[in-house]
Amino acid sequence: MIIIMKEETTNEQMQSLMESLQEAGLEIGITSGVGHKILGLIGDTACVDEEKLLLHPQVVQVMRVHEPYKKANRHFHPQDTVIQVGNAKLGSGKFGVIAGPCSVESVAQITQVAQAVKASGASMLRGGAFKPRTSPYSFQGMGVDGLKLLVEAKQATGLPIVTEIMSPRYCELFEECVDVVQIGARNMQNFDLLKEVGKLSKPILLKRGLANTYEEWIMSAEYIMSEGNENVILCERGIRTMETYTRNTMDVSAVPALKRMTHLPVVVDPSHASGHSWLVEPLAMAAAAAGADGLMIEVHNNPACAKCDGQQSLTPEQFDHLMKKVEAMMGIVEKTLVEAKGEE
Ligand code: PEP
Ligand code: MN
Repeated sequence: MIIIMKEETTNEQMQSLMESLQEAGLEIGITSGVGHKILGLIGDTACVDEEKLLLHPQVVQVMRVHEPYKKANRHFHPQDTVIQVGNAKLGSGKFGVIAGPCSVESVAQITQVAQAVKASGASMLRGGAFKPRTSPYSFQGMGVDGLKLLVEAKQATGLPIVTEIMSPRYCELFEECVDVVQIGARNMQNFDLLKEVGKLSKPILLKRGLANTYEEWIMSAEYIMSEGNENVILCERGIRTMETYTRNTMDVSAVPALKRMTHLPVVVDPSHASGHSWLVEPLAMAAAAAGADGLMIEVHNNPACAKCDGQQSLTPEQFDHLMKKVEAMMGIVEKTLVEAKGEE
């Protein structure tokens, strides 16, 4: 349930209403909208009498929220959430590109790629140290040693690092040395892991599960947010469909739909969505045109020899080309928005 209150409501008036609701066992979040304040009630609101609430002189409107997600819900928090990582910002028109190899392989590899993607304008470095592989016989990542190499690459370039966590036992280590903690597609509904990363202070990049609906995906964000960490970035990375020509099918609708349903930033990973390096650039353009808040792109200095996902990795030169085209696309998107505002 949400209660819309007059903007001029004083703290004392707010407090007295909140106390009576808290006595009924409800958790309350406060956000500010344009020209009003919003109280978001979480818990069993069956006991709340709407008519009585409306008698309160400061209450403008009372609405029951039917969606099962609350903290992530756009109704609870009308403004876009903007997540800042170092100098990079994602959300509400701020666009950022996270780039780097599928997995960290050596100090030379990760620092070379980090330097190259930075020069092309990437705002964060990605690289897997713990890899969720389909086969137990495939390269599983360098583990803690890989994390150390990511930290070295960060020191060399200043780029914040984004990397996947697979087990709650590494939460403390990730809190210490990682800037954005990635939850991979295969762990999107690993609820114990979601609850643990919900206790971290670092933003969480939550990938969409291989075959999950928007609502299931947002409910996973809600798990993280309900533990106190409200900095969640949603990442569309393609879903399973009957098409096998591409590795997955990139769901462009996810961008505008998720932005309507939630206030969280939405980024797109065209590398895992397509599985083919030649498809990454056109899909990245489509994501930018659809209003994505950023991209995650796999880049390798020698894709033919990559230990993981070489076929979908761009060379630094191809990435540079993509960045120029995406920048041009973002220019068009911004211009269209300004023109649309002028017509209102
Ligand atoms: C990755 O980003 O390297 C990865 C494993 O992605 P996903 O979880 O989307 O498959
Ligand atoms: Mn990969």
